[in-house]
Amino acid sequence: MEKDDTICAISTPPGEGGIGIVRLSGAESVRIVSTFFRPASDSKLEKIPSHYLTFGRIVDHDGNAVDETLVSVMRAPHSYTCEDIVEVNCHGGMVPLRLTLQLALDAGARLAEPGEFTKRAFLNGRLDLAQAEAVVDIIRSRTEAGLRSALSQLEGGLSARIGSIRQELLHALARVEANVDFPDEDLPEIDLGRVAKKVRGCCQELKELREGGEKGRLLQEGASVAIVGRPNVGKSSLFNALLRESRAIVTEIPGTTRDVLEQSINLNGIPTRLYDSAGIRESDDKIEAIGVDASRRLIEKADVLLMVLDASEKLTEEDRGLLNSDSATLDRSIWVLNKCDLASVTNRKTLEMDSESLILEISALTGAGLKELESAVYTKLVGESGVSWESAIMTRARHLESISAAIQALDRLETAFADGMSPEFLAADLNEVIGCLGEILGLEPSDELLDVIFSEFCIGK
Ligand code: GDP
Repeated sequence: MEKDDTICAISTPPGEGGIGIVRLSGAESVRIVSTFFRPASDSKLEKIPSHYLTFGRIVDHDGNAVDETLVSVMRAPHSYTCEDIVEVNCHGGMVPLRLTLQLALDAGARLAEPGEFTKRAFLNGRLDLAQAEAVVDIIRSRTEAGLRSALSQLEGGLSARIGSIRQELLHALARVEANVDFPDEDLPEIDLGRVAKKVRGCCQELKELREGGEKGRLLQEGASVAIVGRPNVGKSSLFNALLRESRAIVTEIPGTTRDVLEQSINLNGIPTRLYDSAGIRESDDKIEAIGVDASRRLIEKADVLLMVLDASEKLTEEDRGLLNSDSATLDRSIWVLNKCDLASVTNRKTLEMDSESLILEISALTGAGLKELESAVYTKLVGESGVSWESAIMTRARHLESISAAIQALDRLETAFADGMSPEFLAADLNEVIGCLGEILGLEPSDELLDVIFSEFCIGK
């Protein structure tokens, strides 16, 4: 990837639309667009001030009109990439867009790679890596809470907190290193107690960030909830009732197949995939092994299991099988006594479960208890304190990994301070923590990391 050539791409999604945009970034953008754009007035694109729109026509090599268009120029450094950007607003059809793109390529632009505009914004220092990642999260956000947390990350919420902790640690390192580098000089002895206290404070702050981040990931990545139970207890009825209840259905993730057994709901801001294992069973007859396997995988991977029992009937062997699940499964389970509109045969008492078990009585038919069930699922996912987009400024696994590594090194440091270890030793650990925090901001990113991050983007972003 060259850094100083001029790139171009169709930045709007394929298909028909009101408008479609061909975007260029780089020093040659204005010159390249001038070769095929004819402003309606006498003005020249080169002379048009930054951030103004100009009306005109696009013409091909023979001077034939290709489209009518509005062109905007955003001059460096006040643009998304910090380079000259020109956006050509065509009519939103693939033919005018492709022809315009081809004209830009013919005049010397290069087709942009996925995410290359944002990568340039990063390489030119306009965004740090956490902010660049937030751009993808904004585009992909599936609920309003997810969008807000991504937006706050783009606006530097996470970067500012990480940046200030890193700064504190750099000061601590400078104090420690002064003792390593000039041991013979008559420097005032460093007050290690004070440095240790600062380091402890940083560690505490990182732990808070991590806690918010673990929940925050749910806002972006979503959660999965599976409805499990023997035939006829009312799984499909519950599935449908929950879908109706959570009317704000979140958008489907592009590329995933729609399946009748799987739907998305918005659970207080958490995009949640709801699975109905009843459908899996229906296919048991045909391909039994696949059905059983799918059921088992579903139970293994779901964040929360709704174990449905029929309150109007006695427990069967199959019900007891669920009740005797292993503890890891039970930890993720909510027991749902369905059909509570009918005379009760199975209830809390007859179940004789331990007091920790979460049992809810509902009726999928009348809707009784569904609200309580939804909030029980939500609490199971995020705990009593809930999750707010304000606290969820860190939503990526990559950030969590770096922060966890930093916390580990800080915990080690705390012991090292307590044990009176030598400054060299302390400096090495401090350096490691500072490195971990720098990774989040992308201060010295490897090409490999950049490739992974920017390959998530679409072309034109
Ligand atoms: P599944 O096989 O577990 O998916 O169960 P279904 O959702 O197909 O329901 C089985 C039967 O129980 C159907 O006749 C439903 O109408 C009925 N049913 C489901 N939920 C309730 C409920 O809450 N109350 C009553 N009275 N009947 C229900």
